[in-house]
Amino acid sequence: MVKCECPSCYFEIQLDEGTIEGEVIPCPDCGVDLEITKINGEVAKAEIAEMAEEDWGE
Ligand SMILES: [Zn+2]
Repeated sequence: MVKCECPSCYFEIQLDEGTIEGEVIPCPDCGVDLEITKINGEVAKAEIAEMAEEDWGE
């Protein structure tokens, strides 16, 4: 089981098997979108994903 800590609320998230680097998952505790940046054995690193809003303000 791969674990990662939410950088926003420090909740420990259990990642699904098969989660890959670059995947974006919502934090189950605070709801922020997290991008998995690195998976190293059973520990993954996550960063808060910036919302890419393409059609914005038109
Ligand atoms: Zn969180």
